This record gives sequence, C-alpha cells and structure tokens, in this order.
Amino acid sequence: MFTVARDFSFSYGHRLYRYEGKCRRLHGHNAEVRVEIGMDELDEHGMALDFVNLKEIVGRWIDEELDHRVFLASGDPLAKVLVEAGEPVVLLSGNPTAEQLAKTIFDYVASQGLNVRRVDFWETKNCHATYSR
Ligand SMILES: [Zn+2]
Repeated sequence: MFTVARDFSFSYGHRLYRYEGKCRRLHGHNAEVRVEIGMDELDEHGMALDFVNLKEIVGRWIDEELDHRVFLASGDPLAKVLVEAGEPVVLLSGNPTAEQLAKTIFDYVASQGLNVRRVDFWETKNCHATYSR
C-alpha cells in the first residue's frame, strides 16, 4: 500500500452548543488539515495520486465550502440569527468539534471516489483529532 498526503489550511468560526466550557462561546480557529490517500498500485506516472489532483478536488472544496464559514450544531439557535444576517453557516448534525470536522472532510473526500485512509484535523497547533476507517 502506498500513501500520499496533502496538507490544507482554512479559517472558521464555531461554538459548542449545550457545553459548559469556554468553547460554548462563539470563537474562531485557523485549522490545519492532512488528508491521506492510499493506493495499492501506482499509475503510469509512478504516482499513487497526483498531488495536483488532491489539491484541486479537496482544496477547492475547502476554499469554497469551509473557509471563513461558521460551523454550528443543527439545533443551535444562533444558526437562525446568522442565516438571517446573511452569514454562510455550515450546520452539522452534532457539535462542530475537531472530531466532527475531521469526519466531515473524510466523508467528502470519500464521496469523490478517493481511497481516503485518514484525515487529521488540527484545531490548534497542540490539539488535533483524527478520523480513519
Ligand atoms: Zn474552538
């Protein structure tokens, strides 16, 4: 098995709904994301997957759908207020934790037909979550 990985970064806002810690307050992060792809064979160019393709498929989606957005739990009443104010909000079924965001990105990459192995998501330089299958 060969693996290749590419790193991405984006900025986002969020808060954890019905949570007692300080992350219940609306705040932001500069996330770092690593997407790892596995392939059993190399293509005719000797590549598991061209990094250019990974950037195009995943990087574009992150830029267009995640960067500078606010992530909220679908039941969070703040979502309605922000949507009415014209803010782009991304609703998740659960709280928008690093774990949930890693899985959201993993699921998107898998939906594009790529053999994603794992997604690492750094909420801060010291705290990161991984989703893998
Ligand atoms: Zn946070």
